[in-house]
Amino acid sequence: MSTDDEEEPRVPIVCPACETRSRVPIEEVADTVERHNERLHDGEDVAEVDPAIAEHIADLVADDMGLFDDGEESPNE
Ligand SMILES: [Zn+2]
Repeated sequence: MSTDDEEEPRVPIVCPACETRSRVPIEEVADTVERHNERLHDGEDVAEVDPAIAEHIADLVADDMGLFDDGEESPNE
């Protein structure tokens, strides 16, 4: 009876350059990616949400993010 995993969606972040992979709570994803890229890659978009599940995340986010309404979505310039 350990369903701890289900309680909070965790999102895999991958960085091909560093060959790292980590999981963070969904509400920390943007921040974690940004900080990683800033500290290790001069602000370039190297690390990102695992593309394999990125589309699922979109669903989760749409579902979950009534609280997150401040358009922190596009780090593209
Ligand atoms: Zn990296």
